[in-house]
Amino acid sequence: MSEQLAKELQLEEENAAFPEVVAVAEGPFITGENIDTSSDLMLAQMLQMEFDREYDAQLRREEKKFNGDSKVSISFENYRKVHPFDSDSSEDEVDWQDTRHDPYRADKPTTTPKKGFIGKGKDITTKHDEVVCGRKNTARMENFAPEFQVGDGIGMDLKLSNQVFNALKQHAYSEERRSARLHEKKEHSTAEKAVDPKTRLLLYKMVNAGMLETITGCISTGKESVVFHAYGGKSTNEDDKVIPPECAIKVFKTTLNEFKNRDKYIKDDYRFKDRFSKLNPRKIIRMWAEKEMHNLTRMQNAGIPCPQVVILKKHVLVMSFIGQDQVPAPKLKDVKLSSEDMKKAYYQILNMMQRLYKECSLVHADLSEYNMLWHDGKVWLIDVSQSVEPTHPHGLEFLFRDCRNVSQFFQKGGVTEALNERELFNAVSDLNIAADNEVDFQAEIEALEKVNEDHVQKHGKKVSAFPSDGDPPIYDE
Ligand code: ADP
Ligand code: MN
Repeated sequence: MSEQLAKELQLEEENAAFPEVVAVAEGPFITGENIDTSSDLMLAQMLQMEFDREYDAQLRREEKKFNGDSKVSISFENYRKVHPFDSDSSEDEVDWQDTRHDPYRADKPTTTPKKGFIGKGKDITTKHDEVVCGRKNTARMENFAPEFQVGDGIGMDLKLSNQVFNALKQHAYSEERRSARLHEKKEHSTAEKAVDPKTRLLLYKMVNAGMLETITGCISTGKESVVFHAYGGKSTNEDDKVIPPECAIKVFKTTLNEFKNRDKYIKDDYRFKDRFSKLNPRKIIRMWAEKEMHNLTRMQNAGIPCPQVVILKKHVLVMSFIGQDQVPAPKLKDVKLSSEDMKKAYYQILNMMQRLYKECSLVHADLSEYNMLWHDGKVWLIDVSQSVEPTHPHGLEFLFRDCRNVSQFFQKGGVTEALNERELFNAVSDLNIAADNEVDFQAEIEALEKVNEDHVQKHGKKVSAFPSDGDPPIYDE
């Protein structure tokens, strides 16, 4: 008999014995309605999640022990229960005692035979007896898929109500399916899987507080972040800032490897210099989110079209949504503009780059048709977590790269007026580098960076010429 068939039969049998009481929704959607921690079901699920996490922690320890100092290591990852990107739980790991081999565990309870009752005379107990039934449910939990860890309910003489048992059973099956799907298609994350439990809790809290009405789904899963769409709720601050009707939630991924190659942006950014060396990786990721918030605020103050910051919580940044009715505005690379609009977009970007440099003292550092949205007949800049000040040791190189992307995009797009990359660089920075070929031009850029760096060495920390951002508060539990 195939495993699949066996499972179906088991499910059928259980359904017959325990008519469905609750169906556990699997959807990725977080709404105000489905957050009810008062229900046994929710608590049971939370406990199960906690258990899965502990199981994974134990697995990681076993993996470590197994591999030892060996150069070749074997990963137990596919056996894990919790599959989000979360991998930096060391900070929150609690000591966990392995109780699976408890020598004092109670004997397994006797199960009721087919006839439906045991005992004689007045000592008869039927299968409907609450205690017996509860014990039986606990025992049956062991029949969930072998890889579904349920803990030592029998040892604790745990009595589960039918309702909770059914919910847990359903949860076990959906977890199993989820796990299978995930192993198949690790890349295709949906909203539910895209964030780790801690992030999900953060998002829950925002909805719970009424700040967000509903989180509808995922807009984008990138290497370093996941972006969700949400409908805004009401303000929870005293300053009564209005929350936009539609929001984008950028969740910076808490896996670290993706961020390693970004070190060069933040490490040399004097605004973060003092803090960088002392921080653990998790805090560094929060710093990316913080950086994006500060940069967006500067841009907002200079009147550059960009998302407006709503709130920052740890590595989660909520901002206004560029787009409408859950549909994000298209990236410049995806939208087909008329030649007139193309020209308009070009001049707008030239102007934005100048203002970004002069008024915000920022270089975007990842500017291209991928990070510009076309909305309301104009270009909006997004994705500024990596943006740096022009005095950053590599700031001018980043600017030159931005100029090359912009210049190439519009020249290819048929805008004959578009400056070439060197002209654009000079137009944005006013540095008037005279070199007429790329190699010399870049050499001069690097020389300028060097001069600037030497100046910093001699005169100490740079002082920002810009007034404080007037940033919204950063909330942290
Ligand atoms: P990354 O490229 O680092 O993954 P981005 O900030 O560029 O992160 O966001 C990824 C995608 O999410 C964008 O290309 C855009 O489609 C969408 N997006 C991000 N922020 C917003 C926003 N405020 N409004 C609408 N869509 C957004
Ligand atoms: Mn991007």
